[in-house]
Order: sequence, then C-alpha cells, then structure tokens
Amino acid sequence: MTGQGHHQIGRAGEPDRVADALASLGGATTGPRRAIVDALVSADRLQTPEQVLAEARVAAPSTSLATVYRTLERLDLGGHVKRVALASGAVGYAYCGGSHHDHAICTRCGRVIRVDACAASAWEAPAGFRVASHELNFYGTCEACAADATPDAGPARGAA
Ligand SMILES: [Zn+2]
Ligand SMILES: [Zn+2]
Ligand SMILES: [Zn+2]
Repeated sequence: MTGQGHHQIGRAGEPDRVADALASLGGATTGPRRAIVDALVSADRLQTPEQVLAEARVAAPSTSLATVYRTLERLDLGGHVKRVALASGAVGYAYCGGSHHDHAICTRCGRVIRVDACAASAWEAPAGFRVASHELNFYGTCEACAADATPDAGPARGAA
C-alpha cells in the first residue's frame, strides 16, 4: 500500500521536480547528474552515496563516487534532498522537493514519509528570535515494519 504523501515517487507530475533539481545544479543535465537525480527520485527510502552510485551507474556507467558526493551536496544546498544520519553511522539521502514539509523516518527500513501538516506551526519563538527555517523529523517504525516482528539490521545493512 502506498501511503499518501510518501516520498516514493516517479509518478506523473514528478518530472518537473526532477527538472527543478537538475536546474539547481547548473551546467549539464544529462549523463551522471541526471542518473544520480533519477536514482534518488526512484528510491522509496534513504540511499547511501554508494547505493546512489550503484544505481546511477546502470544508466551512466561513467558516474564516479566523487560526482555523487558533489551532486548530493549541491542538491542538499538547494533543498532538494533530505540528509539523515543512519544508525550504521552512514548518511542516507532521500529526494525531497517542493513546498515546506516535515518527515517521519523509519529507523528500520529507511523509508522517509512526507508530513505536510507542519507540527511546528504552533511553536512560539523566543522573544526577539527570528526564525528563518526549521527541520522536523519524527523517528520510528513505518506501518510495514511495525507489522513485521522480524528483527532487522537497519537500512544500510544486509541480513543480520
Ligand atoms: Zn521531504
Ligand atoms: Zn520501515
Ligand atoms: Zn515544518
């Protein structure tokens, strides 16, 4: 079952956001960069740079890990990806574009669920403090993982 607002994308309407993300990179929008963005967009959970590399190389064999890191950094600066520290110590990335939203992150499978109702809208800033932005993550287990009683090693690892 695909939850509404899920980051699992690649559906109709997404090409524009992919184009936005690519445009934010400047320069060439084909080859490795395109493959990297496509790899992120088609994933339904957090991807480590190594996972992005493996997927991007299917479409663009010349993609290097250095290009993956550089592109992820640019996408992060442009607000097109979400960076999350995984339990394994690695950093995972999820494609994340569009208007402001928060995230519910499954710590077992790495799924990132978009939360459009911003829980921070009721938050009161300290006197004189001007808020420019915020990030709000809810960590826990997704519906599928909560229903699955089998212990899991986490998103960045294989079978235990
Ligand atoms: Zn997001
Ligand atoms: Zn999960
Ligand atoms: Zn928010």
